[in-house]
Amino acid sequence: MKFNTKTIHGGQHNVDPAYGAVMPPIYQTSTYSQTTPGGHKGYEYSRSGNPTRTALENAFASIENGKFGLAFSSGLAAIDAVMKLLKPGDEVVSTNDLYGGSYRLFTKIYQDFGIKFHFVGMQDANAIEKYINKNTKLLWVETPTNPMMNIIDIKACAALSKKHNILLAVDNTFATPYLQQPLELGADIVMHSATKYLGGHSDVVMGALIVKDEKLAERLYFIQNASGAVCGPQDSFLVLRGIKTLHIRMQRHCENGKAIADYLSTHPKIEKVYWPGLPSHPNHEIAKKQMKDFGGMISFTTKKNIMAEAIKVVEKLKIFTLAESLGGVESLAGHPASMTHASIPKEEREKTGVIDSLIRLSVGIEDIEDLIADLKQALG
Ligand SMILES: *Cc1c(COP(=O)(O)O)cnc(C)c1O
Repeated sequence: MKFNTKTIHGGQHNVDPAYGAVMPPIYQTSTYSQTTPGGHKGYEYSRSGNPTRTALENAFASIENGKFGLAFSSGLAAIDAVMKLLKPGDEVVSTNDLYGGSYRLFTKIYQDFGIKFHFVGMQDANAIEKYINKNTKLLWVETPTNPMMNIIDIKACAALSKKHNILLAVDNTFATPYLQQPLELGADIVMHSATKYLGGHSDVVMGALIVKDEKLAERLYFIQNASGAVCGPQDSFLVLRGIKTLHIRMQRHCENGKAIADYLSTHPKIEKVYWPGLPSHPNHEIAKKQMKDFGGMISFTTKKNIMAEAIKVVEKLKIFTLAESLGGVESLAGHPASMTHASIPKEEREKTGVIDSLIRLSVGIEDIEDLIADLKQALG
């Protein structure tokens, strides 16, 4: 099956043996009747498993070319499950320009449990190896990075992880499997905040992990059930429905993303535009190699690096909604320094480029003329 067919049919054969419903029923139940102790039809308690969640987990596995999918109550719950593969004394080499919540989980929770993190500018793959030692157990990669849109060479990271026998996990939230499939490039674990493009409609919070290796899947399933951060059947249904249009939404996100990146690049008030599809982007060549297209996430800075000016621009936008999050059908704008990245100390965030004038756009799938007119009036 090719990708567009997989988003609709992947892992979805025979979802309703009872009546042949085309969409899986929402099995709103916590428990399942047994004829004799242990005599059940594959489900005994909905933390351990629920048929609607299974349908979604099979779809996750299919679209990422994995074998096993696991759904969690949020993206961070999915990352939390990966961290629970580790033990005190273990070390992690992570992307430095990172989703703020991931950084907070690593430094404010897992550091206290005796896990050591190295935050590295991984867009230069040669910079990674010197942080790897005998305690290193995990490479944590986010690409494109948030919010600077750096691109990290997943294949080069996979070569390192194989050489040193460590796990490679890729947060694929920004790219989605429409643009890149990390398992195909050698990653061991793909993670998603399904809250974003997979759900696609800003109406649900969810996380996902996808793997190929059976032993790793068993371990993660044990953690999912033992820690219990699972998603409910209603949310599973919503994300499953979202995935069915992922490919056509992504196509439009990419088209609109390109038009807006081009528009901003020529605007006199704009200092810099960060979008991996621009030939001027420092990692454009890696992006071309590992991504099918370049997505709808764009960051830019205004010439005046003044926090109040950037805030004025995002407040004046009318079609772009000022909000956290991304990946929905509607366009959103955010100001990382005061919103998503406020939990990262100023000196730390400025090192990676998150300066006061940085604005991040999640370009939606509206008519491009309306989106550009909105940016024009807000910048005017
Ligand atoms: C939103 C996000 C997360 C966290 O996911 P939640 O669903 O909000 O818990 C992790 N990584 C990236 C890149 C994100 O954008």
